[in-house]
Amino acid sequence: MKCTLCPRACGADRASQLGYCRVGERMKIGRAELHFWEEPVIAPHGKSGAIFFAGCSLGCVYCQNFSLSRGEGYEISQEELVETMKRLEGEGADNIEFVTGSHYIPGIAAALREYRPSVPTVFNCGGYEGVEQLKPLDGLIDIYMPDFKYSDSAAATRYSNAPDYPAVAVKALKEMKRQVGATLVENGAMKRGVLVRHLVLPGGVRNSLGVLDILKNILDGDDHLSLMSQYVPFGDAHGFPEIDRKLKPVEYKAVVARAERLNFRRVLVQDADSADESFIPEFESEKGSGGNTRR
Ligand code: SF4
Repeated sequence: MKCTLCPRACGADRASQLGYCRVGERMKIGRAELHFWEEPVIAPHGKSGAIFFAGCSLGCVYCQNFSLSRGEGYEISQEELVETMKRLEGEGADNIEFVTGSHYIPGIAAALREYRPSVPTVFNCGGYEGVEQLKPLDGLIDIYMPDFKYSDSAAATRYSNAPDYPAVAVKALKEMKRQVGATLVENGAMKRGVLVRHLVLPGGVRNSLGVLDILKNILDGDDHLSLMSQYVPFGDAHGFPEIDRKLKPVEYKAVVARAERLNFRRVLVQDADSADESFIPEFESEKGSGGNTRR
């Protein structure tokens, strides 16, 4: 059957071939361990139960999880995904976090219908999801944590081959907010709601300011915005001279200053030393083949 799950609508028959997202029909992951560097509001004890899925329908040239997004990983069944959630819960995870699993939403939703963790479920994604694609997660995800990468269609085209990214991401974010309702934070821990991430790119201040203008019209109440400065040239970024460097502090400060001027209620900012490859976890191409984090 031709896959039209995501806005890419590439039409691959995933039973017999790989999609644009670089994966077939069966779910694949690269890592499922406690992850210690997520925003404290979703992991108050610093322990996200992160399940990193292989493949990605965006395929950004600078992807900070490059090998994983290009399909490196090992297959996991629905039953194994349920067991993985239980294991992470048993290890004290603050949440169960599905990282870049948009091209596997039917399988993730089926696993969550079989087993609902006692901790919040977090859907961490690229923001490039169709409204219909997200519908099966309605009532199963407590916290949406999408990226909002681009306001600039030219940048979305150059780095992610997705000229429709800004329009798609606006609709996706509105659907996520509709599903989870008003963001609820108790004792510093998000129980449900939305946390939007934006990674500021080198030379991308204007794109970022446009993102803030868009988000100002969508986020409200206790919705959170995380402005990320941790970009390091990775993957194919070396082929794009303008992003083949780390972010300058002055660029990040300009974006943070605009967020302050726009009066976002809940903004998370990073330290300047966040731009370090040691924050990027290693992934496994086979189950149990290692995959230690670099710090
Ligand atoms: S989920 Fe993958 S296979 Fe399906 S339309 Fe999107 S890119 Fe193509």
